[in-house]
Amino acid sequence: MRKIDYHMHTWFSGDSEADPREHVKQAIALGLDEICFTDHRDFDYPIDSFELDIEKYYQMIMFLKEEFKDHIIIKWGIEIGLDMNYQKEINELINRYPFDFVIGSIHVINHTEFYYGDFFKGLVKEDAHRYFFEETLRCVKNFDCFNVLGHLDYIMRYGPYENKKVDYNKYQDIIDEIFKTLITKEKGIEINTSGYAVNGNCGFPNYQQIKRYYDLGGKIITIGTDSHTSDRVGQYINDVVEHLKKIGFKDVSTFTKRSCDLNER
Ligand SMILES: [Zn+2]
Ligand SMILES: [Zn+2]
Repeated sequence: MRKIDYHMHTWFSGDSEADPREHVKQAIALGLDEICFTDHRDFDYPIDSFELDIEKYYQMIMFLKEEFKDHIIIKWGIEIGLDMNYQKEINELINRYPFDFVIGSIHVINHTEFYYGDFFKGLVKEDAHRYFFEETLRCVKNFDCFNVLGHLDYIMRYGPYENKKVDYNKYQDIIDEIFKTLITKEKGIEINTSGYAVNGNCGFPNYQQIKRYYDLGGKIITIGTDSHTSDRVGQYINDVVEHLKKIGFKDVSTFTKRSCDLNER
């Protein structure tokens, strides 16, 4: 199974200062086969700016791709905040540029976000989590411009609750519907290893959910660290690969111009 890091942020994202060249060097040092940069663009983040200078970002990654072409495969992607209030803008942006890969993530729901906690105001945990998964399902059904859904259950990172963990039994029907919709639409999910810091020995989502996705017929899967600093590039990827093999995956998925690469291995 190839080792990839398909979720990395750099100084082109509003919340990272990282030099993309350092990401590449770290990935090479760890022996990764392929990486994809996925800087942020959100249309309605209420507090911070998630604008993205796409032209400069593209030029930089193309430069690095050429510079390191004998050492590692580099792809150019984006993490787009899926938001039902900005369907037209999001589709136009994705179609305007030659992205290799698009992560669709839910960062904002109806002008409220999770990081600063506005989303959770007045909601008990169960209602907040249900609302989050239902909105995720709505986005997955209505958007076609993405390749994988980002960090499926990372809502548990946030919220004013003593126990932030997702109680899967309560929403498994919605999560299954998310998986089935993704599978039908030939989209996938990612394992986001930033979950290891929150969740113990698994990413977002955990391996029970990954197995569930696999058992329902899911094949398309990427691994990403969601690195905002170079020291996190490649973190936990060996562990993820071992788990994926045990579940039954033959390989991870990689993308070129938003199409899944034929697996030649
Ligand atoms: Zn994200
Ligand atoms: Zn991210």
